[in-house]
Amino acid sequence: SNHPMIVVSEQDILEIDLNDLELSDVELGRGAFGTVYEATWVSKKLRVACKVFRVRKQGGSGLLQSFKRELNAYREVSGAYILKIYGYAVETISRLEDKCYLVMEYMAKGSLACMMEKEKISYFRKVKYALHVARGMHKLHQHNLIHRDIRPANILVDEHQVAKIGDMGITREVSANHQHTMVGYNPYMPPEFYLGRYSQKLDVYTFGLTLNEFFTEANAQLDITGSTVKLQNLSPILNDFILRCINYDPNQRPTSFICQKTLALYVKCFTETINKKHRDYDKSSTEKRNSIFKHYHERITARIREELNYAW
Ligand code: ATP
Repeated sequence: SNHPMIVVSEQDILEIDLNDLELSDVELGRGAFGTVYEATWVSKKLRVACKVFRVRKQGGSGLLQSFKRELNAYREVSGAYILKIYGYAVETISRLEDKCYLVMEYMAKGSLACMMEKEKISYFRKVKYALHVARGMHKLHQHNLIHRDIRPANILVDEHQVAKIGDMGITREVSANHQHTMVGYNPYMPPEFYLGRYSQKLDVYTFGLTLNEFFTEANAQLDITGSTVKLQNLSPILNDFILRCINYDPNQRPTSFICQKTLALYVKCFTETINKKHRDYDKSSTEKRNSIFKHYHERITARIREELNYAW
């Protein structure tokens, strides 16, 4: 394949000339604030995704602020598991309104939320995506940020099956005054959010709910009653892990570092156990893979148990 080799880092977030952007008619999705289109960044010969929305020039529209905040959050942090933002463009459309374009990495598979509706994802692939998200979350936390909105709609997957965290619109610094940054009711939020005092463990909770939804394919808020989650067909290790992430007490939740470590270990044990016997595992169908997993389930679980002592 011929991917253009350009490396864009957080320092490079730049204003892109509108003439250098060619928007297609292909709508990749709609969010609360705008529509995302497939587009071409002409001078780079690069396929990109472009989020388009209108903002009022003046008069206290929070949208422009939100746009700038999103850009700033991305400027601070970049990494393999965080969606890349290349730049932005602003177009004046009237005396009152501007049109903003957020130009980002094109994620061929769309969001996890979309994928879950469209296709059956094998158990192991889910575990891999979970690891990617944990790595992205850890990276944000290392930069002293709280994402605050980790959920399946905000995790995007590229053509190489890499999952990345996107939508940093409401990302905040740990030190920010959280009292004034409350957003509306969000079923993914942990109890402490409504008390206005929270830490990065908030992300661990929303991450846990996201995994619960992802693995059980059940709606996050419907399936959680107290601290018990119905996790059918799930490795007990993973079940236990998710329950720890969504513990009501933030102090009982693992850190993002531990999340990343645990899932990396899971992937390692899984790969080693299955690859010994099934060299064609990656090429098998989803059904075949899931049945192979079931067969080795106990062996994998035992290995992880053995090695996981450090984590809890
Ligand atoms: P909200 O606006 O409430 O945050 P959202 O996160 O779903 O909701 P958007 O970020 O506007 O809203 O994204 C809308 C949809 O567009 C996503 O669910 C996804 O399917 C698609 N999408 C967003 N960004 C990209 C991208 N970089 N590449 C491909 N598809 C994308």
